[in-house]
Formats: sequence, C-alpha cells, structure tokens
Amino acid sequence: MSTCLLILGRQGSGKGTQSLMLAEKFGFVHISTGDLLREAVESSSPLGLKAKQIMDAGELVSDEIMCEILAERIAQPDVKSNGVLLDGFPRTTAQAEALGAIVGKVDGVMNLDVPIEEVTQRMLTRNRDDDTEESIARRLALYEEQTAPLLGWYEEHSKVVTIDGIGTEEEVFNRLATALETITGSLVS
Ligand code: ADP
Repeated sequence: MSTCLLILGRQGSGKGTQSLMLAEKFGFVHISTGDLLREAVESSSPLGLKAKQIMDAGELVSDEIMCEILAERIAQPDVKSNGVLLDGFPRTTAQAEALGAIVGKVDGVMNLDVPIEEVTQRMLTRNRDDDTEESIARRLALYEEQTAPLLGWYEEHSKVVTIDGIGTEEEVFNRLATALETITGSLVS
C-alpha cells in the first residue's frame, strides 16, 4: 500500500477545505467520507436515503456501512499510485481497526486543532443542512467521545502532528503543509 495520511479535527475545524488543497499540492488522492455520503444523498440511492436522516440528526453512519464505502473507494487504482489523504475517516475505534487491516500502517496523522467554541460559531454561520444547533452539539460530543481518543492510539503507532487551526486559511494551510513535509520527509529518510 502506498502512503496513507489522515487529518483529524473537530467538525468545522476547516479540515475539508484544507485537506483538499493539501492533496492537490502534494499529489495525494483526497477522500472525504462526508463528501462520499453527500454524493450518495444527491443521487437518492438507497444508501443515500438512509444516510441523510442519520447525518441530519448529527449521528454517525454505522461502522459497517462506512467501512464498506471506504474500502471500495480506497481500492481504486488512483489511490495505489498516488497515496491518500483521508478526511473524516476513521471516527471510531472500529473504523481505525478496519483501516489498519486495509492499509497496514497509517504513515502520519495531522490533528487540526480548533476549540469547541470557535468551531460552533463557524458551523452556525455556514448554512449546511445538518448544521442545526442540536446536530452541531451532538456531532461535537461524538467527536470528543469517539474520535479524539484515536489520537492517543495513533501516537503510539504513527507520526502525529498537532496544528493550530486558528488563523487565516493561508496561515493554517502553510502550517499544515510544513507538518506534511515533516511527515513525508521522515518517510523517505
Ligand atoms: P462534519 O465533520 O461536519 O461532521 P462531514 O462532511 O465530515 O462533516 O460528515 C458529515 C456527516 O457524515 C457526519 O455528521 C456523519 O453523519 C457522516 N459521516 C462522515 N464520515 C463518517 C464516518 N467516518 N463515520 C460515520 N459517519 C460519518
């Protein structure tokens, strides 16, 4: 398996925008599980219809479904030849284990850090369907409960770099790019 990098961070931390730009700069394939689910919703597939209710309520789509979607996407040839930057996956221990079974080892993790008060404000002003106050609170609670603990786990197995996500889009991008260079540099040497 080629390079596998993760970006973790609270909802509203800006990881979607930033990881898209990073993937482009470094030539990795960007996979956002939120985007994959929204595409399914758009196409009104059976999965999409089911996922929409879960997403609007701020709940997590089941590990079983998510792992299947991820495995299918990650098996595409572009991932093998370019490496991948995963955005929004894994979010639970079961997903982290499934990912480990697919890719072997995660090479590096970027932790984009933005405090809860700040991400809440950001999400309240961005007008997405699932950005109601209740849904935001639920998603952030699930992040602390299920996703944040993954950082400790990855610290033991992979390179984890925490990046301050407060600042302009460009400032944060530069910090992330430096972190990614550190991670990928250490892969080569
Ligand atoms: P956010 O980070 O604001 O939650 P995303 O676009 O990453 O936005 O995800 C939107 C929704 O899609 C989530 O609230 C959740 O319902 C679902 N989702 C995305 N990725 C996963 C995942 N890995 N596991 C479970 N549900 C997911």
